[in-house]
Amino acid sequence: MKREKRPFPFVISATSDDEKFMLLALREAWTAFCCEEVPVGAVLVHKGIVIARGHNQVEMLKDATAHAEMLCMTAGEAALSNWRLADTVLYCTIEPCSMCAGAMLLTRIPQLVWGAPDLRHGANGSWIDLFKTQHPMHSIEVRSGVLQEYAAAMMRDFFQLRRQEKGKENDQKS
Ligand SMILES: [Zn+2]
Repeated sequence: MKREKRPFPFVISATSDDEKFMLLALREAWTAFCCEEVPVGAVLVHKGIVIARGHNQVEMLKDATAHAEMLCMTAGEAALSNWRLADTVLYCTIEPCSMCAGAMLLTRIPQLVWGAPDLRHGANGSWIDLFKTQHPMHSIEVRSGVLQEYAAAMMRDFFQLRRQEKGKENDQKS
């Protein structure tokens, strides 16, 4: 069942730079939502300018590693022509998983800002915490909970809608 592209569902006035960029990440998450992907979005900011965006594309690419953050970091590396993402801040709507958190260490991202916790896969405290132990090469400054109610609401709506759609499909079959 295809969903039509719908307008962004929230009216948010950002009161800080973190909220301003998180709002852009939420818009990426909404793009994923409209493509029937789990709604996670990310943007990468370099010296105050957005240089890359990404939204979850696991279903479309049939690739479990096609997370918003991974796609955003890869695009950022291309934009900077450098695998070291120095002087950047990565914004993601949901607490990163262990793969994405690992990639953040590899790309030397200095700052991470995330929205809502991910109780199943979150690798910054919800499931495990990859940033708690000091890494020998790199440390990441983290701010969390930014606009989290919107990221969490989008997730909730997504899974609720998916359950309803699955229910309808089952009704049609029976
Ligand atoms: Zn991930």
